[in-house]
Amino acid sequence: MKSLVGLLGYPLGHSISPVFQQAAFDFYSLNTTYQAWPTPPDVLRSKVASLRNDQYLGANITVPHKERIQDMVDIMDPEAEKIGAVNTIVNNRGSLEGYNTDSQGFVIPLKKLVRFDFKGKRVLLVGAGGAARAAVFALAGEPIQSLTISNRTHVKATKLTDIVKHLVPEVSHTGIESMEFTKAVSNADLIVNSTSIGMSGTEDPMLSPIPTSWIPPNSLVYDMVYNPPITPLLSEALRAGASILGGLPMLVQQGALAFEKWTQLEAPIDLMSKVAEEALSKTLN
Ligand code: NAP
Repeated sequence: MKSLVGLLGYPLGHSISPVFQQAAFDFYSLNTTYQAWPTPPDVLRSKVASLRNDQYLGANITVPHKERIQDMVDIMDPEAEKIGAVNTIVNNRGSLEGYNTDSQGFVIPLKKLVRFDFKGKRVLLVGAGGAARAAVFALAGEPIQSLTISNRTHVKATKLTDIVKHLVPEVSHTGIESMEFTKAVSNADLIVNSTSIGMSGTEDPMLSPIPTSWIPPNSLVYDMVYNPPITPLLSEALRAGASILGGLPMLVQQGALAFEKWTQLEAPIDLMSKVAEEALSKTLN
């Protein structure tokens, strides 16, 4: 029987998830179609309920539904519950299971692609939204020394640090226009951008949250934004002589983990990455 799986979000724009997920299903010659399901908030509940039908494997969830959808699934995975967001639904014979693969999707490229050694490292996380929350739980599971969370809306950074203050030896928070922020940048071994600053399609896609002169040359700068592949922040980091990691490996990795939950098969990650890169370069042309 033909099965369906798809991406629930609104609006969806030019998402590349359908392309690289379909490549994985085709790799195994599975009779499954991955679709884009632009779903406005008012019809979300009925769309999620329809996923209990046995033709559906489940769904990926993206902005703005990741938090609200927690109330619409039957079983929450403990990791997703802790993070407070669901990005993957699995339809297990009519019972909807909610997972979060963003956290592992964030940390696996750091370990496998750039072999970052977390031990004793000072980490600066810019942003305190949903992506930051997934990153914070992943970072708290590593042997880092300190974590500073900096956000435009300072109170959100404060709330996020409260959640992990017992999990990391040193935890602090700042705004993004303070002396403390400049200091946190210059002390960091790993700088992570989890804001949408520099993302294509935003009001000012040429903006970087941090200028070149503040970035330590021996740091790693990780931008979760994947469109464009080299964001303004990554350009500044390269100019500073720092190492860089873009957001595409995270996007593919969280998708690969979702694929494995739907199919119980090992995701063909190299193929998915190659297809994702090609699809992204087409959206740039
Ligand atoms: P979100 O929950 O809406 O959070 C947005 C964050 O960006 C907040 O911290 C917000 O600060 C900050 N921000 C937005 N515009 C800003 C500006 N002009 N100046 C300063 N701060 C600004 O969104 P999200 O889900 O966390 O996603 C954030 C980014 O991560 C997006 O670009 C998304 O594409 C990317 N992402 C990538 C992946 C991946 O797989 N690579 C996965 C998830 C997300 P305030 O709190 O002050 O509003």
